[in-house]
Amino acid sequence: MNDKIWLSSPHMGENEFNFVKEAFDTNWIAPLGPNVDGFEKDLATYLGEGVHVAALSSGTAALHLALIMLGVQAGDEVICQTMTFSASANPIAYQGATPVFVDSEEQTWNMSPKYLEAAILDRIENGKKPKAIIVVHLYGMPAQMDRIMEIADKYEIPVVEDAAEALGSSYKGQKLGTFGAMSILSFNGNKIITTSGGGALVSKNEEWIKKSRFLATQARDAAPHYQHSHIGYNYRMSNISAGIGRGQMEVLPQRVEKRRSNFTFYKKAFSGMEAIKFADEPNADYSSNRWLSTVLIEANGGVTREDIRLHLEKDNIETRPLWKPMHLQPVFANSPFYGDGTSERLFDLGLCLPSGSNLSDEDLKRVAAQMTAVLEGTSV
Ligand SMILES: *Cc1c(COP(=O)(O)O)cnc(C)c1O
Repeated sequence: MNDKIWLSSPHMGENEFNFVKEAFDTNWIAPLGPNVDGFEKDLATYLGEGVHVAALSSGTAALHLALIMLGVQAGDEVICQTMTFSASANPIAYQGATPVFVDSEEQTWNMSPKYLEAAILDRIENGKKPKAIIVVHLYGMPAQMDRIMEIADKYEIPVVEDAAEALGSSYKGQKLGTFGAMSILSFNGNKIITTSGGGALVSKNEEWIKKSRFLATQARDAAPHYQHSHIGYNYRMSNISAGIGRGQMEVLPQRVEKRRSNFTFYKKAFSGMEAIKFADEPNADYSSNRWLSTVLIEANGGVTREDIRLHLEKDNIETRPLWKPMHLQPVFANSPFYGDGTSERLFDLGLCLPSGSNLSDEDLKRVAAQMTAVLEGTSV
């Protein structure tokens, strides 16, 4: 059996272990400490725009706190991009609110501004103005932020950016994760940088970040005993994980560069193939970290996305269909949806290719050769 080629596996740099060792040596083995503070500072400096950051146990926890900060309550409605990972939508349900799903547009595969506005108008007509808009930068590609922010401002609805996949991407030179009223990042094991598991909440509003840290540590009031006047959560990042994060921040620019070069490799390798389509950056305003390289397999001599996926699996190469839209998920069957089927089509045709920053040239060539073999019908 050939060696396994993963979709996106962790890639440690030089210094992660030193930060973790320092935590051991100083006995900061807790969900607080110098690495947590240092990691928050590193992230805020990298993102710029005067943002503040709270390091948390996951991106999902960050999104939950973002909705709490924006006052989302039981019975409310929250607009969410349909084409995404379930973690974008689950925190809406944690609050007892209802997700309202909005379709993708063809260019970036992210939230369609047209259907966003249609959804807002229809929900208002139904008697409820949505409390927030969750826009996702899928696979690192920036959503059409100018138009989305313009619509959000027009109806005065705060935007939460789900930038879990988009650390290192930018729009018009501004880092993703700095556009929304609040934004979230993820450092899960498969993301562009990882802390093994973890996330962050980002905002220019320092009060929200302070309050989030408070809620994330069980909402302890200032008192010598345990005193509580709010419902709290155990959502803080551990000082061990944050140590890994500090090391990963030192190599983030290299990780972005390598992921982008994976995409360039695939694009070149399949340049002569009609059946394979790529999502290009629409223009120079868009810069994707290319967290995952993705392709659409247009019907070509009957070779489908699944044919390719299964063939690669036999050669021990991991690929995966694009995110299945939330409005097609049984768990969200009763939620409203606005769109024209674009995300459904992308899901039917789309495949995520091995994209790790630790892939060798040989790995990439093996993936391309196997895909070419299926598409040209020369595989055995
Ligand atoms: C990974 C991911 C999340 C959740 O992050 P966790 O840290 O795993 O909780 C949320 N949204 C998107 C789009 C993601 O890819």
